[in-house]
Amino acid sequence: MRCLGLEGTAHTLGIGIVDDGGRVLANRGEMYRPDVGGIHPREAANHHADRLRPVLRATLREADLQLRDLDLIAFSQGPGLGPSLRTVATAARALSLSLGLPIVGVNHCIAHVEIGRAVTPARDPVLLYLSGGNTQVISHARGRYRVLGETLDIGLGNLLDKVGRTLGFPFPAGPEIERRARGGKELLPLPYSVKGMDVAFSGILTAAQALRAKDASVEDLCFSLQETTFAMVTEVAERAMAHLGKKEILLGGGVACNERLRTMVGAMAKARETRMFVPPKTLCVDNGAMIAWTGILMHNAGLDLAIEETEVHQNMRTDAAEAPWVTEGAEPG
Ligand code: AMP
Ligand code: MG
Repeated sequence: MRCLGLEGTAHTLGIGIVDDGGRVLANRGEMYRPDVGGIHPREAANHHADRLRPVLRATLREADLQLRDLDLIAFSQGPGLGPSLRTVATAARALSLSLGLPIVGVNHCIAHVEIGRAVTPARDPVLLYLSGGNTQVISHARGRYRVLGETLDIGLGNLLDKVGRTLGFPFPAGPEIERRARGGKELLPLPYSVKGMDVAFSGILTAAQALRAKDASVEDLCFSLQETTFAMVTEVAERAMAHLGKKEILLGGGVACNERLRTMVGAMAKARETRMFVPPKTLCVDNGAMIAWTGILMHNAGLDLAIEETEVHQNMRTDAAEAPWVTEGAEPG
């Protein structure tokens, strides 16, 4: 079986093809990059509408397949920006109806866990999911994926991008912050904002902007931003692992590309005698392959949708539905 997965929750249009052995046959994406400022939802949706056909064509070419070779259509049903979600869901419905193929609606956050389980030895991990819009600690417990901790305001990637904008870095700012942080020497005071199992970042944004206004060094600021926020998310992930007795930590989302984050989480995992897993970068960021693969798991679990059930859910919750395909407590593969 081959599934075509369409991802369109935010700035990235991703289309991937995966087979039922978990092999990624093709994975293409294009990211909407605003000239100035952050993501404008309507502009992102227009980008996805404009680029859908060329990206679909490139994906089929990469897999050396035709539309008639597909068996299943999967799409990101939520959570995300309404206009982006609706644009890509419309394409998924059109493909399903015109090709006569079953259709599955995938939760974007769960897809980040599932692609990690497919391409790394992780079997029953805690996912530390750090992207532009989302910051969540997710794990499977009693039949479904549950959010054990999350941001109370903005996503960690969004914080990095906003501080980067203050510093004049292009969007997305994460990679440049990582580069400049290597030259940092002094840890500047930023609020360490862990509240129970949750984290909050907007106070750090305000504090970072105030430090910059007082001519703090860019290197020190980037360094302090990484040290403070990565320690916060590592702490919450560790508590989730301890609470559930899980032995694997999986990283996902664009911020998981960061080497300093990997070092800090890796040190925590080692100290607990557990293991950290990180998918390749192209599968850490938003992508169509993760939607396609999760689509296959859901289809095999009997979770196809009727066309009238394919409306998108901007606030779709990770724990809204059972995830019966996961075996809890499974050892690493
Ligand atoms: P996503 O929303 O998952 O596609 O990830 C995009 C986010 O990841 C943006 O906010 C980027 O700034 C962030 N990002 C990408 N590369 C890095 C990096 N090397 N370090 C930190 N953040 C990064
Ligand atoms: Mg994502």
